[in-house]
Amino acid sequence: MKVIIIGGVAGGASCAARLRRLDEKAEILMVERGPYVSYANCGLPYHIGGVIEKESSLLVASERTFREQFNVDCRVNCEAIKISPDKKTVDLRNVKTGKVTTESYDKLVLSPGAPSIRPPLPGIDLPGIFEVRTVPDARTIREWIETGSLFLSGMDSYSGFQTVRPKTRAVVIGGGFIGLETAENLVHRGFDVAIVEMGDQVLAPLDQEMARIVEGYVEKHGIRLALGDGVAGFKQAANGVIDVETQSGKIYPADVVILSLGVRPDTTLAKTAGLEIGQRGGIRVDEQMRTSNPDIFAVGDAVEVKDFVTGEWSLIALAGPANRQGRIAADVITGRDSRFRGSQGTSIIGLFGAAAAWTGASEKTLNRLGDKDYEKIYLYPNSHAGYYPGARPIAMKVIFRKSDGRFLGAQALGEDNVDKRISALAMALQMGATIYDLEEAELCYAPQFGSAKDPVNFSGMVAAGVLRGDMPLSHWKTAKAGFLLDVREPAELAVESVPEAVHIPIGQLRARLAELPRDREIHVICRSGQRAYYATRMLLQKGFNAKTVSGGLLSLAHNHLLDGSLN
Ligand SMILES: Cc1cc2nc3c(=O)[nH]c(=O)nc-3n(C[C@H](O)[C@H](O)[C@H](O)COP(=O)(O)OP(=O)(O)OC[C@H]3O[C@@H](n4cnc5c(N)ncnc54)[C@H](O)[C@@H]3O)c2cc1C
Repeated sequence: MKVIIIGGVAGGASCAARLRRLDEKAEILMVERGPYVSYANCGLPYHIGGVIEKESSLLVASERTFREQFNVDCRVNCEAIKISPDKKTVDLRNVKTGKVTTESYDKLVLSPGAPSIRPPLPGIDLPGIFEVRTVPDARTIREWIETGSLFLSGMDSYSGFQTVRPKTRAVVIGGGFIGLETAENLVHRGFDVAIVEMGDQVLAPLDQEMARIVEGYVEKHGIRLALGDGVAGFKQAANGVIDVETQSGKIYPADVVILSLGVRPDTTLAKTAGLEIGQRGGIRVDEQMRTSNPDIFAVGDAVEVKDFVTGEWSLIALAGPANRQGRIAADVITGRDSRFRGSQGTSIIGLFGAAAAWTGASEKTLNRLGDKDYEKIYLYPNSHAGYYPGARPIAMKVIFRKSDGRFLGAQALGEDNVDKRISALAMALQMGATIYDLEEAELCYAPQFGSAKDPVNFSGMVAAGVLRGDMPLSHWKTAKAGFLLDVREPAELAVESVPEAVHIPIGQLRARLAELPRDREIHVICRSGQRAYYATRMLLQKGFNAKTVSGGLLSLAHNHLLDGSLN
């Protein structure tokens, strides 16, 4: 059996290596248009920032490794230019010499990835405007900001010598994860960085109120955000400066511009081969990664996958799914019955020592689908036991089905151990867990690592409390229409008060019940929701119609930015 793999990075390389492990006899040819196979494109922003100093550290396995360890005929600088499915051949062009050869296949695997979106904007090809996709891209950016880091800026009037000005200003177009990671790395290199983002938030998969926390955090670290403003074009100004012009007419001068406007599945070859393309623009595959042609498989960023929670076709450009799909294609080609379970979009981004991570459905996705059968909670547990030094709060939003408690998705942000919470939740999600399962999950605990009630358990306990009716829930948007009861201590009010609220500290509540209405909903608030829950329990048992405002003042801090309520 002869298998040709087109694309030699995440999906393609993992497919080639797995194929060899499963079939020692297979003839495997892997072609890669670029100069490297199996490189860590996820590390590119950190190479630009100098965290990963050596370029060679990004090269996970070389052409030679594939030849020698895996007996894979691995060809770099080799582009597949045409597939002839009827003849089962692929035309290959040597990128350096232009020579075209034809190879036959029994099975073909496409893993061509998703190139960066590059709109035809005026000036987009000016020097100093870069993408971050390949090792050569990162090298060029480093050279631009390092060796060419000084611009001639004019003539010194006294000495007559040319004066120089270092490159100091960067504009990143796009606030997705590659844009944000690159922006952070440029800040570390001393750049004054602005991000221009057409959408009204960074990190589009997050719900907007959670993205607001990220935005506040990166702004605190010196990044300027221009949200809701698309780039209109680029102009060469004096001294090598590029003026980035936005649709609203603003101008951001830059010494370096990073384009990170998202990616689009590479379907060029697939289309010429007559393969089915899905409604989201990716190659349509079945759960065994087979395209509409049974001898052609496709994996990675180029394919559409089923969203694990919603069942919708979606485009998920992530390394984990690409690697797993490469393995699955190899399994199926060698006769195994492996299947891709769909993608949850589980992601994480690190920013200035903090992390934002998420898995599963967001609230906005459910709203877009008209799904009303969900509830959400906000919580702010400590990353580990509060009494052990270094505990940091994690801001969490957890979404679950009202009707049966199925866990649907979570988003978390914080400075410590966000990843393990979302990883645990992602696993639970894939296993079809309910919030009752999260309550019962048995997780690692010692004070420096977690809490006896880990944030994962805690989210399950709070959510289950809501569904069992122990903790009737309200959110800021609706709470303001009711009677607001603030049960915090007086000292806390001095820091942040809610003028509309009646204030009775929790310790005085039992003695002051007469001050509360019996004919209205009472929305109880505290700092994070915990004391409000205790107060709600008490009030319910005393016959009041009480609800806990989810996340308390902490959730107000990012939610109120959205609807302006209580302002
Ligand atoms: C800067 C950056 C940071 C990232 N960070 C993360 C991260 O932190 N976490 C995460 O999960 N994901 C991350 N990703 C995404 C992740 O790298 C991709 O999802 C993954 O690499 C997709 O694998 P793939 O095999 O589909 O495509 P790729 O890995 O992009 O490989 C496709 C290859 O196919 C080659 N090719 C295309 N057409 C042809 C042709 N006709 N002939 C020959 N070769 C061809 C291309 O040259 C390319 O090298 C990042 C991506 C980038 C660019």
